[in-house]
Amino acid sequence: MRRKIVAGNWKMNNTLEEGIELAGQINDLVENTEINDVDVVIGTPFIHLTEVNKVVGEKIGVAAQNCADEKSGAYTGEISASMIKSTGSKYVILGHSERRTYYGETNEILVKKVNLTLENGLAPIFCIGEVLEEREAEKHFEVVKSQIAEGLFHLSAEEFGKVVLAYEPVWAIGTGVTASSDQAQEMHAFIRKTLVEQYGEEVANNTSILYGGSCKPSNAKELFENEDVDGGLIGGASLKAEDFMGIITAF
Ligand code: PGA
Repeated sequence: MRRKIVAGNWKMNNTLEEGIELAGQINDLVENTEINDVDVVIGTPFIHLTEVNKVVGEKIGVAAQNCADEKSGAYTGEISASMIKSTGSKYVILGHSERRTYYGETNEILVKKVNLTLENGLAPIFCIGEVLEEREAEKHFEVVKSQIAEGLFHLSAEEFGKVVLAYEPVWAIGTGVTASSDQAQEMHAFIRKTLVEQYGEEVANNTSILYGGSCKPSNAKELFENEDVDGGLIGGASLKAEDFMGIITAF
Protein backbone atom coordinates (compact mmCIF):
# COMPACT_ATOMS: atom_id res chain seq x y z
CA MET A 1 0.00 0.00 0.00
CA ARG A 2 1.09 3.55 -0.70
CA ARG A 3 2.16 4.98 2.62
CA LYS A 4 3.46 8.32 3.77
CA ILE A 5 6.98 7.70 5.05
CA VAL A 6 9.59 9.89 6.69
CA ALA A 7 12.89 8.00 6.91
CA GLY A 8 16.04 9.25 8.58
CA ASN A 9 19.44 8.32 7.20
CA TRP A 10 22.04 8.87 9.89
CA LYS A 11 24.87 7.90 7.53
CA MET A 12 28.19 7.44 9.40
CA ASN A 13 27.24 9.52 12.44
CA ASN A 14 26.73 8.83 16.16
CA THR A 15 28.55 6.49 18.51
CA LEU A 16 26.43 3.68 19.93
CA GLU A 17 25.59 5.74 23.03
CA GLU A 18 24.70 8.81 20.99
CA GLY A 19 22.55 6.74 18.68
CA ILE A 20 20.62 5.13 21.53
CA GLU A 21 20.01 8.57 23.01
CA LEU A 22 18.83 10.06 19.71
CA ALA A 23 16.55 7.09 18.99
CA GLY A 24 15.08 7.44 22.49
CA GLN A 25 14.41 11.15 21.94
CA ILE A 26 12.76 10.52 18.57
CA ASN A 27 10.69 7.71 20.06
CA ASP A 28 9.47 9.94 22.93
CA LEU A 29 8.47 12.67 20.50
CA VAL A 30 6.72 10.24 18.18
CA GLU A 31 4.85 8.64 21.11
CA ASN A 32 3.72 12.00 22.46
CA THR A 33 2.82 13.85 19.28
CA GLU A 34 -0.25 13.60 17.13
CA ILE A 35 1.06 12.27 13.81
CA ASN A 36 -0.95 12.19 10.58
CA ASP A 37 -0.66 8.56 9.55
CA VAL A 38 3.04 8.67 8.68
CA ASP A 39 5.41 5.70 8.91
CA VAL A 40 8.57 6.80 10.69
CA VAL A 41 11.85 5.03 9.88
CA ILE A 42 15.32 5.48 11.34
CA GLY A 43 18.28 4.36 9.21
CA THR A 44 21.25 3.69 11.48
CA PRO A 45 24.75 2.29 11.10
CA PHE A 46 24.84 -1.52 11.43
CA ILE A 47 26.21 -1.53 14.96
CA HIS A 48 23.19 0.44 16.23
CA LEU A 49 20.48 -1.75 14.74
CA THR A 50 19.97 -4.17 17.63
CA GLU A 51 19.96 -1.54 20.36
CA VAL A 52 17.86 0.99 18.46
CA ASN A 53 15.29 -1.72 17.79
CA LYS A 54 15.05 -2.23 21.57
CA VAL A 55 14.62 1.49 22.22
CA VAL A 56 11.90 2.28 19.69
CA GLY A 57 8.26 1.26 19.90
CA GLU A 58 5.89 -0.08 17.28
CA LYS A 59 5.46 3.27 15.57
CA ILE A 60 9.06 3.38 14.34
CA GLY A 61 10.72 1.03 11.85
CA VAL A 62 14.48 0.62 11.77
CA ALA A 63 16.53 0.51 8.55
CA ALA A 64 20.06 -0.55 7.70
CA GLN A 65 21.88 1.64 5.19
CA ASN A 66 23.30 -1.19 3.09
CA CYS A 67 23.61 -4.97 3.01
CA ALA A 68 25.98 -7.52 1.48
CA ASP A 69 25.44 -8.81 -2.04
CA GLU A 70 26.02 -12.39 -0.91
CA LYS A 71 24.01 -14.61 1.44
CA SER A 72 26.72 -15.67 3.88
CA GLY A 73 30.23 -17.04 4.05
CA ALA A 74 33.78 -15.83 3.58
CA TYR A 75 33.13 -12.10 2.99
CA THR A 76 35.14 -10.39 5.71
CA GLY A 77 33.57 -7.22 7.00
CA GLU A 78 30.22 -7.68 5.30
CA ILE A 79 26.74 -7.75 6.89
CA SER A 80 24.06 -9.93 5.31
CA ALA A 81 20.37 -9.23 4.87
CA SER A 82 19.51 -12.14 7.16
CA MET A 83 21.71 -10.64 9.91
CA ILE A 84 19.89 -7.33 9.51
CA LYS A 85 16.56 -9.15 9.71
CA SER A 86 17.67 -10.84 12.94
CA THR A 87 18.06 -7.44 14.65
CA GLY A 88 14.34 -6.74 14.22
CA SER A 89 14.91 -4.19 11.46
CA LYS A 90 12.34 -3.79 8.69
CA TYR A 91 14.06 -1.86 5.90
CA VAL A 92 17.35 -1.60 4.02
CA ILE A 93 18.37 1.60 2.24
CA LEU A 94 19.94 0.50 -1.06
CA GLY A 95 21.71 2.31 -3.87
CA HIS A 96 22.29 5.57 -2.05
CA SER A 97 24.34 7.88 -4.27
CA GLU A 98 27.17 7.85 -1.73
CA ARG A 99 27.40 4.09 -2.11
CA ARG A 100 27.11 4.24 -5.88
CA THR A 101 29.82 6.92 -6.07
CA TYR A 102 32.30 6.06 -3.30
CA TYR A 103 31.90 2.27 -3.16
CA GLY A 104 31.31 1.46 -6.80
CA GLU A 105 27.82 0.04 -6.41
CA THR A 106 26.57 -0.83 -9.86
CA ASN A 107 23.07 -1.78 -10.90
CA GLU A 108 24.24 -5.42 -11.16
CA ILE A 109 25.36 -5.40 -7.52
CA LEU A 110 22.14 -3.67 -6.50
CA VAL A 111 20.03 -6.36 -8.16
CA LYS A 112 21.67 -8.94 -5.86
CA LYS A 113 21.15 -6.75 -2.81
CA VAL A 114 17.51 -6.04 -3.67
CA ASN A 115 16.85 -9.77 -4.09
CA LEU A 116 18.48 -10.73 -0.79
CA THR A 117 16.63 -7.92 1.01
CA LEU A 118 13.26 -9.12 -0.29
CA GLU A 119 14.08 -12.80 0.31
CA ASN A 120 14.62 -11.92 3.95
CA GLY A 121 11.30 -10.12 4.29
CA LEU A 122 12.88 -6.65 4.45
CA ALA A 123 11.68 -3.67 2.42
CA PRO A 124 14.27 -1.98 0.21
CA ILE A 125 14.31 1.83 0.21
CA PHE A 126 15.84 2.09 -3.24
CA CYS A 127 17.58 5.38 -4.05
CA ILE A 128 17.81 6.94 -7.50
CA GLY A 129 18.81 10.36 -8.74
CA GLU A 130 20.88 12.28 -11.23
CA VAL A 131 24.05 14.32 -10.76
CA LEU A 132 24.13 18.01 -11.67
CA GLU A 133 25.80 17.54 -15.06
CA GLU A 134 23.09 15.07 -16.05
CA ARG A 135 20.35 17.54 -15.13
CA GLU A 136 22.10 20.35 -16.95
CA ALA A 137 22.35 18.13 -20.02
CA GLU A 138 18.62 17.37 -19.61
CA LYS A 139 19.37 13.69 -19.12
CA HIS A 140 17.81 13.43 -15.65
CA PHE A 141 14.67 11.57 -16.69
CA GLU A 142 16.65 9.08 -18.75
CA VAL A 143 19.16 8.49 -15.92
CA VAL A 144 16.50 7.92 -13.28
CA LYS A 145 14.50 5.64 -15.56
CA SER A 146 17.50 3.45 -16.28
CA GLN A 147 18.44 3.24 -12.59
CA ILE A 148 14.93 1.99 -11.82
CA ALA A 149 14.78 -0.35 -14.81
CA GLU A 150 18.22 -1.89 -14.27
CA GLY A 151 17.95 -2.17 -10.48
CA LEU A 152 14.33 -3.20 -10.05
CA PHE A 153 12.45 -4.20 -13.17
CA HIS A 154 13.52 -7.82 -12.88
CA LEU A 155 11.06 -8.03 -9.95
CA SER A 156 7.54 -9.39 -10.29
CA ALA A 157 4.69 -6.95 -9.59
CA GLU A 158 4.16 -8.64 -6.24
CA GLU A 159 7.80 -8.26 -5.26
CA PHE A 160 7.93 -4.68 -6.49
CA GLY A 161 4.98 -3.92 -4.23
CA LYS A 162 7.35 -4.15 -1.24
CA VAL A 163 9.81 -1.57 -2.60
CA VAL A 164 9.95 2.06 -1.46
CA LEU A 165 11.60 4.48 -3.90
CA ALA A 166 13.61 7.53 -2.87
CA TYR A 167 14.34 10.17 -5.49
CA GLU A 168 17.46 12.00 -4.37
CA PRO A 169 18.96 14.44 -6.87
CA VAL A 170 22.66 14.13 -6.05
CA TRP A 171 23.16 17.89 -6.37
CA ALA A 172 20.73 18.39 -3.48
CA ILE A 173 22.24 15.90 -1.03
CA GLY A 174 23.94 17.60 1.90
CA THR A 175 24.38 20.79 -0.13
CA GLY A 176 21.61 22.92 1.32
CA VAL A 177 20.20 23.22 -2.20
CA THR A 178 16.80 21.56 -2.33
CA ALA A 179 14.97 20.63 -5.50
CA SER A 180 12.08 23.04 -5.93
CA SER A 181 8.67 21.70 -5.17
CA ASP A 182 7.91 21.71 -8.91
CA GLN A 183 11.13 19.89 -9.82
CA ALA A 184 10.34 17.22 -7.22
CA GLN A 185 6.75 16.78 -8.39
CA GLU A 186 7.81 16.67 -12.04
CA MET A 187 10.29 13.86 -11.41
CA HIS A 188 8.02 11.93 -9.04
CA ALA A 189 5.20 12.03 -11.61
CA PHE A 190 7.65 10.79 -14.26
CA ILE A 191 8.74 7.94 -11.96
CA ARG A 192 5.14 6.93 -11.35
CA LYS A 193 4.46 6.99 -15.09
CA THR A 194 7.49 4.74 -15.61
CA LEU A 195 6.04 2.32 -13.06
CA VAL A 196 2.64 2.37 -14.80
CA GLU A 197 4.32 1.31 -18.04
CA GLN A 198 6.07 -1.61 -16.37
CA TYR A 199 3.61 -2.79 -13.72
CA GLY A 200 0.29 -1.05 -14.40
CA GLU A 201 -1.73 1.60 -12.58
CA GLU A 202 -2.42 -0.31 -9.40
CA VAL A 203 1.19 -1.10 -8.51
CA ALA A 204 2.30 2.39 -9.52
CA ASN A 205 -0.36 4.07 -7.39
CA ASN A 206 0.54 1.90 -4.42
CA THR A 207 4.26 2.73 -4.51
CA SER A 208 5.62 5.26 -2.02
CA ILE A 209 8.08 7.65 -3.66
CA LEU A 210 10.12 9.70 -1.19
CA TYR A 211 12.11 12.84 -1.89
CA GLY A 212 15.60 13.29 -0.45
CA GLY A 213 18.15 16.09 -0.58
CA SER A 214 18.41 18.94 1.94
CA CYS A 215 14.87 18.35 3.15
CA LYS A 216 14.28 20.20 6.44
CA PRO A 217 11.39 21.40 8.60
CA SER A 218 11.18 24.69 6.68
CA ASN A 219 10.72 23.14 3.23
CA ALA A 220 9.15 19.74 3.98
CA LYS A 221 5.56 20.93 3.88
CA GLU A 222 5.87 22.43 0.43
CA LEU A 223 7.55 19.29 -0.90
CA PHE A 224 5.10 16.88 0.74
CA GLU A 225 2.06 18.76 -0.55
CA ASN A 226 2.78 17.46 -4.04
CA GLU A 227 0.52 14.70 -5.25
CA ASP A 228 3.36 12.29 -6.07
CA VAL A 229 5.67 13.03 -3.14
CA ASP A 230 4.92 10.50 -0.41
CA GLY A 231 7.49 11.58 2.14
CA GLY A 232 11.20 12.07 2.56
CA LEU A 233 14.57 10.43 3.08
CA ILE A 234 16.31 12.76 5.47
CA GLY A 235 20.06 12.98 6.10
CA GLY A 236 21.37 15.97 8.06
CA ALA A 237 18.02 16.95 9.55
CA SER A 238 17.49 13.44 10.96
CA LEU A 239 20.39 13.87 13.38
CA LYS A 240 18.42 16.20 15.70
CA ALA A 241 15.19 14.84 17.15
CA GLU A 242 13.36 18.19 16.95
CA ASP A 243 14.28 18.76 13.29
CA PHE A 244 13.30 15.22 12.35
CA MET A 245 9.99 15.67 14.16
CA GLY A 246 9.46 18.97 12.35
CA ILE A 247 9.60 17.05 9.09
CA ILE A 248 7.36 14.20 10.30
CA THR A 249 4.73 16.72 11.37
CA ALA A 250 4.96 18.60 8.06
CA PHE A 251 2.31 16.19 6.73
P1 PGA B 1 20.55 15.38 3.27
O1 PGA B 1 20.80 13.85 2.82
O2 PGA B 1 19.15 15.45 3.82
O3 PGA B 1 21.58 15.64 4.30
O4 PGA B 1 20.70 16.22 2.04
C1 PGA B 1 19.77 13.10 2.25
C2 PGA B 1 20.27 11.70 1.95
O5 PGA B 1 21.43 11.56 1.49
O6 PGA B 1 19.55 10.72 2.16
